[in-house]
Amino acid sequence: MKIAVCPGSFDPVTYGHLDIIARSTDLFDRVYVAVLTNPSKQPLFTADERVDMLKRATAEFDTVHCETFSGLVIDYAKMRGAVAMVKGLRAVTDFEYELKMASMNHHLDKDIETVFMMTNNKYSFLSSSAVKEVASLGGDVSAWVPSFVAEALAGKYTMLAESGIDIG
Ligand code: ADP
Repeated sequence: MKIAVCPGSFDPVTYGHLDIIARSTDLFDRVYVAVLTNPSKQPLFTADERVDMLKRATAEFDTVHCETFSGLVIDYAKMRGAVAMVKGLRAVTDFEYELKMASMNHHLDKDIETVFMMTNNKYSFLSSSAVKEVASLGGDVSAWVPSFVAEALAGKYTMLAESGIDIG
């Protein structure tokens, strides 16, 4: 059985992520979507909220499993018996960062390959942070995220505004 992991922040999941996950299911027998819990980053959604949204968004795929992980991605991939880590590539800036990460991960474990998929043209400028920026200002994000994610974003920003927390 060929197993892959798709690691990321998914704060929150977008159609860009879902496109990469769906294409991964065509290549691998099982795909673990792993939500990174990075203590140095301040996410909008908790890790559990992000996993719940991913589970809902990938419900149609029997071979996709969503969960959290902390620590080194390569250790997580090994623990899951993965042969590959699948990453999406958008702009040149993604390439520089991902090249560095792939080289370091290859050094740490030569048996796990990093596989890059080119972004779908429709989503080449889509990122979770851009979606959050638009949503925080009350803009329509329905072209980029499933409707329940758009609702969760609106709910989060309303709650933050009511509690007087600076969301800028
Ligand atoms: P971001 O916060 O930048 O949206 P994540 O850390 O959640 O990214 O990304 C997880 C993975 O999904 C990464 O490999 C990233 O390159 C990929 N990805 C994110 N958005 C897109 C997109 N629009 N098209 C292709 N891949 C994407």
